[in-house]
Amino acid sequence: MPIVPDSAVAYCRFFSCAIALLLFVVSSLAEPAQSLSILGESIQPGVRQRLNLDYGAAFLGDSHTTPVIVAHGTGQGPTLCLTAAVHGDEINGVEVIRRLLRQTDVARLRGTLIAVPAVNWLAFMQGSRETPERRDINRYFPGNPENDYASRLTHILFEKVLKPHCDYLVDLHTATLKRSNIPHLRADLGNEDVRRLAALLGELPILWGDGSTRMLRPQAVRAGITAVTLEFGSAETIQADMVDAVARSLTTLMQRLGMRDGQPPRLGRQELFKKAVWLRVPEGGLFLSRVKTGDEVRAGETVGVLVNFLGDEEVALPSPVDGKILGLAYDQFVLPGYGVAHVGSRDGTDAP
Ligand SMILES: [Zn+2]
Repeated sequence: MPIVPDSAVAYCRFFSCAIALLLFVVSSLAEPAQSLSILGESIQPGVRQRLNLDYGAAFLGDSHTTPVIVAHGTGQGPTLCLTAAVHGDEINGVEVIRRLLRQTDVARLRGTLIAVPAVNWLAFMQGSRETPERRDINRYFPGNPENDYASRLTHILFEKVLKPHCDYLVDLHTATLKRSNIPHLRADLGNEDVRRLAALLGELPILWGDGSTRMLRPQAVRAGITAVTLEFGSAETIQADMVDAVARSLTTLMQRLGMRDGQPPRLGRQELFKKAVWLRVPEGGLFLSRVKTGDEVRAGETVGVLVNFLGDEEVALPSPVDGKILGLAYDQFVLPGYGVAHVGSRDGTDAP
């Protein structure tokens, strides 16, 4: 599979993606795509098909499955995989995938788009972050066929869909309950291929990090898939503006990968945060924010206050670093140690 050359990123930034990717696209067009064997089906070029990934018997003894939508293009190109609802209540990504598939003309597609819009199917159906066993499956990759349900689910997804088929993976998430994130990537920029992929999503800021070991993203990278996480918005809701913006970013990514026609915008300078620091409350109370997500703050600047709602005590909560508010809690009652703001810092380890 052709990997997008490093020079493509530079050309996208300084000249034109159309020029930069010309050789890549021309080489992709030279030969038609072959049929694709996936989940026991053979999908012909130019066909979009819904398949079912079988997770085994659930409560009533019937098989439960989650949809896998495959759009297999007529021209050769990379396979881009999209996953959403790994946390079942994070549904913005489900709608992003629907819009992207709706806008994809498979007859003109080069390469293949594979989407798993509701990875954690039972949790998605319950509107819950975790499985019915209260497991966060994003701590269970790459899974284990002999262990518990979370281990089996992640193993089936990883071995049957992701590992054998994906060149690129964008895993779509939101902030956890009662928090909101600005759209941003989480990516291990120490990996050359990941760095190039993140650069091709240049409209989005990057938070550099390799993630917890058993998350999908680092395990995918370890398996040879070029993977990033895309965070945006809040759980339990569909946020139309953010969904539109992220769907546009992914359309642009497909253009830059040579999968879709169209002239992507030139890349500007991409914001890079080398780390993010949680602002945690020293004790419980009512958190009231004084900033918005995306605001720039200075170290020591008040991000919010903690109010003792039975009295008149009010404690200012200073930002721990200079940076940008990547994630922010809603105004709410909080317990001691609750993370109310995730502040992206441009200082830290050396940039790649
Ligand atoms: Zn998540």
